Amino acid sequence: MSKRMNVSPETKWHELPIGGEVLDAGNAADFKTGDWRSMKPVWHEDKCKHCMFCWAVCPDMSIEVKDGKMVGIDYDFCKGCGVCTAQCKFGALDFVIEE
Ligand code: SF4
Ligand code: SF4
Repeated sequence: MSKRMNVSPETKWHELPIGGEVLDAGNAADFKTGDWRSMKPVWHEDKCKHCMFCWAVCPDMSIEVKDGKMVGIDYDFCKGCGVCTAQCKFGALDFVIEE
């Protein structure tokens, strides 16, 4: 059963949930953490060698793969850390300001 609650301006302070607690297990998919991004990787398919180094280093599993090949970036969860762009040796990933 979910322990989440709706908080409104009428909610009393002593009714608020304790901060910093993960109330539901397995809830990461519910939060589009890509919203936090200020920079983003841009993939150039024509330069990609499908070496999958970017997939190996991405801390958010945001490199999308199909049949063993890179097919894109999941911007719903990419946090824009830039690790993938820093290690791509083929110029297939640029790192640009999020517009
Ligand atoms: S590291 Fe670069 S070349 Fe390798 S799969 Fe990722 S984008 Fe493609
Ligand atoms: S910028 Fe960071 S989070 Fe986004 S795809 Fe690259 S390694 Fe993953």
